[in-house]
Amino acid sequence: MIVSAFPIVSVDLIGSMLMIVFSLLCFERMVRLTSLERENILWTYLLFVCAALSIFAISRSAGHIVKQVLLFVEVPWVWGHIRPFSGSVNTLTFILVASVTVFFERVWVINRAILRDRRALRDAHEELSWLNRNLEILVDERTEALAVSEKKYRRMFELSGDIIVVTTGDGRLLAINPAGEEHLEGRDHFGAFFTDVERFQAIMEAIGQKGRVGNTEVTLRGLGGRTFRALVSGVTDIDSGEGTILFMVRDVEETLTMREKMATTEKLAAVGELSAGVAHEVNNPLGIILGYTQLLKRSAEDESTLKEDLSVIEKHVIGCKKVVESLLNFARSAPPEKRPCDLHKTIGEVLAFSRHQAEMDGIQVISELADTLPEIYADAEKIKQVLINLIINAVHAIDGHGEIHVTTGIADPGTVFITIADTGCGMDADTRSRIFDPFFTTKPTGTGTGLGLSVSYGIIKNHGGEIDVISTPGKGTAFTIHLPTAG
Ligand code: ADP
Repeated sequence: MIVSAFPIVSVDLIGSMLMIVFSLLCFERMVRLTSLERENILWTYLLFVCAALSIFAISRSAGHIVKQVLLFVEVPWVWGHIRPFSGSVNTLTFILVASVTVFFERVWVINRAILRDRRALRDAHEELSWLNRNLEILVDERTEALAVSEKKYRRMFELSGDIIVVTTGDGRLLAINPAGEEHLEGRDHFGAFFTDVERFQAIMEAIGQKGRVGNTEVTLRGLGGRTFRALVSGVTDIDSGEGTILFMVRDVEETLTMREKMATTEKLAAVGELSAGVAHEVNNPLGIILGYTQLLKRSAEDESTLKEDLSVIEKHVIGCKKVVESLLNFARSAPPEKRPCDLHKTIGEVLAFSRHQAEMDGIQVISELADTLPEIYADAEKIKQVLINLIINAVHAIDGHGEIHVTTGIADPGTVFITIADTGCGMDADTRSRIFDPFFTTKPTGTGTGLGLSVSYGIIKNHGGEIDVISTPGKGTAFTIHLPTAG
């Protein structure tokens, strides 16, 4: 029985052992593969299947080996007890393999979805990183551009020749550029720089209503009490969110003064041409009238009424001739005879003649002449005429007691100045703007011709000089003449 059973028993035993060996080999291979690629779901599935097969092989083969051993030792009843357990393990391993296989399809789908999502996530992450990098570059570029722009505007603020002022909504100073500090230092409210506060209030009101105000001419009080005309424009800075106001202030005093001087020169040139024409026409007949009058006067009897009448005619004709000559002077038809001359000597001669007259009226003439003065290249007689005009006007302006100061000095290199200042009635702005107009006078008829200053103006211009006036009503007037030196 043992011999007859040997081949099938050996096949069963060897087959069982080989089954265990092969299933364990498969399991070991799958363990290796899985450890290489832990996330590979297929390897994991096969690992489970191999594990189940190994358990199945061990349980089944061990069962067969035990069965053959028990049959061999002739205790088959023990096998009867073990058999159900071996069968159960086999069944369970089958169920395990089957359920893993049944659920594998779902696990596979979920795994694919997870892998897809993971890829999408990685892509999104890469895109985000790229955007982030780009954003950093963009922010760097913008920051740099902002810094450049900020620097540019700061330079404009600092280097601008115009005054730039930043104020709060009610005019309190927040910032002022260096040009502004040069002109307007020392106050903390923009309104304090205006000579006319109502003008400032009107500007603020206009800004409040329209948000801006265009070039408005105002007079500002600058450093050292200097007042100057300026164009002010302002705009509310909405972006700041605090209602700050930006003001641009342009000092136009020099430009306006220049323009006014040019207007005066042009006006005087036109009037001069007209006067020259009239004066030429009148001068000759006047000369003839004077000649004949003097001829008649010579042949008239002394003490006779005719001689007296002729003297009256002669006096008035001479007066007329003076006016005509003044007009010709003014019109530059009589060119000055210039030669090097000592201004102090000329002034001395004028003062010797006019001081006495002034002192009789209770006016003191005080000369404050420079120690030395370079010679000027001028027609001394015409300069004398100008100085006499100015001193006569000063005497007329002083009602009662007062002083006339005559000052000389060197202004810029190559220029000397003479100032004739009085403590008289002064002039308002309107009078001041018209004094060089021919025939403009505020004096009663018979006293003034209104030609003194216009003629003086013409003479000084003919000498390449300037004549300026500063006057305060009730306080006095100062005329300053600048003349080029002989060199
Ligand atoms: P006139 O003396 O004949 O009036 P001017 O041309 O010399 O003519 O002067 C013109 C005007 O200028 C004067 O009428 C006067 O109103 C004003 N004026 C000139 N000099 C002075 C002065 N020193 N102070 C005040 N007003 C002056």
